[in-house]
Amino acid sequence: MNEIEREQRYGAHNYAPLPVVLSHAKGVWVWDIEGTRYLDMMSAYSAVSHGHAHPRLVAALTAQAQRLAIVSRAFYSDKLGAFLERLCDLTTLDGALPMNTGAEAVETAIKAARRWGYSVKRIPAEKAEIIVADGNFHGRTTTIVGFSSEPAYRADFGPFAPGFVRVPFGDIDAVRAAITPNTCAVLFETIQGEGGVIVPPDGFLRSLRDLCTEQNVLMLLDEIQSGLGRTGRWFAYQHEGIVPDGVMLGKALGGGLLPVSAFVARHDIIDLFEPGSHGSTFGGNALAATVALEALDVMADEDLPGRSAELGEYFLLRLRAIHSPVIREVRGRGLWVGIEIDPALADAHDLAMRLLRRHILAKETRSTVLRLAPPLIIERAEIDMCVGALKAVLAEAEAEQVTA
Ligand SMILES: *Cc1c(COP(=O)(O)O)cnc(C)c1O
Repeated sequence: MNEIEREQRYGAHNYAPLPVVLSHAKGVWVWDIEGTRYLDMMSAYSAVSHGHAHPRLVAALTAQAQRLAIVSRAFYSDKLGAFLERLCDLTTLDGALPMNTGAEAVETAIKAARRWGYSVKRIPAEKAEIIVADGNFHGRTTTIVGFSSEPAYRADFGPFAPGFVRVPFGDIDAVRAAITPNTCAVLFETIQGEGGVIVPPDGFLRSLRDLCTEQNVLMLLDEIQSGLGRTGRWFAYQHEGIVPDGVMLGKALGGGLLPVSAFVARHDIIDLFEPGSHGSTFGGNALAATVALEALDVMADEDLPGRSAELGEYFLLRLRAIHSPVIREVRGRGLWVGIEIDPALADAHDLAMRLLRRHILAKETRSTVLRLAPPLIIERAEIDMCVGALKAVLAEAEAEQVTA
């Protein structure tokens, strides 16, 4: 049995991986078991924004693993406080609750929003509503998929939790119309990642900030994929000069080495958690806190948000200069690009397969969008390499379309 067959035989089939078996990685490069080198244009959905095996992060991980890793939150550690303090400084918010995966940070935000709704806003018991967006992606727990609009995420997993209202993404009038006296929060991505790198209209977040303040509704932003430099700022909400009431972070927070997530919020929200109300065995462990703090330090020292802004602009410019009938739209911000493919002319999954053959790792999201999101340490020459491969792949697809 080869490795692909073994995974298929013994694993649940909840993913459909591209047919490549990876064995090691460094920076923007990943090697398969045959020694073929690939350019990583996906970086595990932003989890590897720092690049693979960043020397400072690997050093922090290995040193701390030998000192103190897991003691649970039954005790204090000499590592957690500094990590939480840094999260508050960066977001200009007041307090943080550390978890592991992104979905857990979102669950934490949902619990916080409901508590705030009942104890501060005085919403009648069990009536709190949270407004979410069509096309959202916030993770895979049963509560979260219950308010997804994607049938594949939900099918046969119900019954689902009530208390969520969906509106079109980026439509401020729809949000205003959906707010009732029982609305405790809006919960949106700043840019929809899994939804296809959907950028809301300019000014949407600013209008949403004003609306939430005016209506006494919490503004909660899921920056698990968009945050920590991906869009060219530390947080995507900074493009509009606002601060939300709470923000969810994950993915890049673990420096590409560990799952680390957090919900960061204002005092009056985070302080609603008392002992016993919420928790996680691994959340905030000393190893995770050490790696995450180092990940934030590396991000600052190497100015990864600045690199993302500069190189992202270059990348978008080069991609928009490609004239192919297959491409309907190139959109994105920073080093985060969605290429909308005309489904009559090509298939995004097929393009990802063709890129793989040219040693570029990328994947489609939805069926018509090719997502490109490299580690933020990528160099100009590597971007050029990706653009060259993409041009070749599009030409191939067009040629086959003509002969077909
Ligand atoms: C990936 C993602 C999540 C879920 O994170 P997990 O670590 O997979 O649970 C939540 N929200 C957004 C926007 C994401 O991209």
